[in-house]
Formats: sequence, C-alpha cells, structure tokens
Amino acid sequence: MSVQPLIDISQLKKAFGQNVVLKDITLQLEKGKVLAMIGPSGSGKSTLLRCINLLSVPDGGAIRVGEQTIEFKGAHTRLPPERTLARFRASTGMVFQHFNLFPHMTALQNVMEGPVTVLKTPKAQAEAEARALLAKVGLLERAGYYPDKLSGGQKQRVAIARALAMKPAVMLFDEATSALDPELVGEVLNVIKGLAAEGMTMILVTHEIAFAREVADQVIFMRDGVVAESGPPSVVIDNPQQESTRAFLGRFK
Ligand code: ADP
Ligand code: MG
Repeated sequence: MSVQPLIDISQLKKAFGQNVVLKDITLQLEKGKVLAMIGPSGSGKSTLLRCINLLSVPDGGAIRVGEQTIEFKGAHTRLPPERTLARFRASTGMVFQHFNLFPHMTALQNVMEGPVTVLKTPKAQAEAEARALLAKVGLLERAGYYPDKLSGGQKQRVAIARALAMKPAVMLFDEATSALDPELVGEVLNVIKGLAAEGMTMILVTHEIAFAREVADQVIFMRDGVVAESGPPSVVIDNPQQESTRAFLGRFK
C-alpha cells in the first residue's frame, strides 16, 4: 500500500534575476520521516527550505503540505489570502542557523509569542504549552532568561521550542548547528534526534554527515539547483553514484 506523502514538491523553480537557483525540484516526504539535505554551499539548500516556508516565493511548480496546495506561476501566481498563507507558513516550523530569537523577550515569551499572536491561543494555555516545550528541550529552568544570557546551544533549543509551539506539520532546520561552538552541537542534535524518535516529520539541511546518516530516512544531495542524488543514507552517503558527490563527502571523512 502506498502512503500519500505529507509533503509533495513538484517542479519547483526559483531564480534571482538571471541566477536560476532551483531547477525543477521534485521531492516527496512521508509523515514521520526525516529528510536530510546535503550539498555544497550555494547549491540552493536554503532557498529550497525558504520556498517551502514561503519566506521566498517560488517562480514555478507546486508545494503541497497536508491538504494545502499552492501552485506558483511566476507573475501570475495567485497567492491565497493572507490568513491562508499564515496557516500554510505555520504548518512549516523553521529553525535558522542564527536562532533569530526576539532579543527583548525571555525564553518563555519567545515560545509563547506565535501561539498568542498568530494562533490566538489564550495566554494561560500558551504559557503552559510553552513551559512543556521548554521542558522537552531541557530548558524549563531557563524560562525567565533573555537570549543574551543563554549559550548558543540553549538559544537554538529555545528556537526549536518556539517553532514547535506552532504545532507545525513539518520542521525545517537550516544548518541549525553550524553557528555553534563544537561542544554545544551535541545538545541540539540530541533534541532533533528526540523529535525524530517521536515521529516528527523533518527536513534538515546539515553538514553533520554522521548525524544525517543516523537520523535520516532519506538523503538528497543538491548540486547547482538540482537534486543530484536521492535515496537512503546507505546509498547517498555511503555509496554515492556520482564522482562529485564522492568528492564532496570525502571532505567530511
Ligand atoms: P545554500 O544554502 O545551498 O548554500 P542558497 O540557497 O543560500 O544555497 O543560495 C543559492 C544561490 O542563490 C546562491 O547563488 C545565492 O547567491 C543565491 N541567493 C540566495 N538568496 C538570494 C537572494 N535573496 N537574492 C539573490 N540571490 C540569492
Ligand atoms: Mg544555506
């Protein structure tokens, strides 16, 4: 029996001026699965995540997340009304390399902000849920701290809790550990691993190749705006078909 994928991206295109950054990207991801995206700098990984989250609007193709589909037709794209768009965005929780926490809010306020302002969750409920999420990422005792009093690893864990607070269908991580001191990488990877074990659907852009092998069900290798290789980690990471993929991965050995 084939399962309808949770995420279905077809022929996605994106250019910045003459620079065609995504060339007909097609991929599917089933609910509860983890997709790791690897590849050289400039290959379009961040742009693809930003398109899925609609931080960038694609020029062509279509994205379906759950029941919601948006088709992109360049200048003729008819984006759904703002409220539908906000709901679409909220279904994809994004975690950035540089955390992007609100500096003037405590950890707890950062996590509560989206539910209260976007989802209109009553404050008491939003606070209870935010505390539960901070507990999940191991930071309940830091609830009242401002970002500048947190380590990079703690900030990133707050950012993960904040994204989870919107109850997204899929979590998108763009090099979530690249800005961290090496000794802080593990605590963030452990949180991501825990989410995978709970069945969270995730797309991870990462240079942590060993981690990708361990946690991903599916790996895609991006090169020059195309999915150059796609398959399970045992193929794409351990036995890539293309010489340039082997050369790239060789740098991490
Ligand atoms: P990766 O995340 O794989 O390093 P990116 O998606 O960030 O790659 O970038 C892919 C290409 O798109 C690069 O050539 C980059 O310069 C270009 N690009 C990304 N964002 C923008 C933007 N906002 N405006 C213009 N060019 C961009
Ligand atoms: Mg990037």
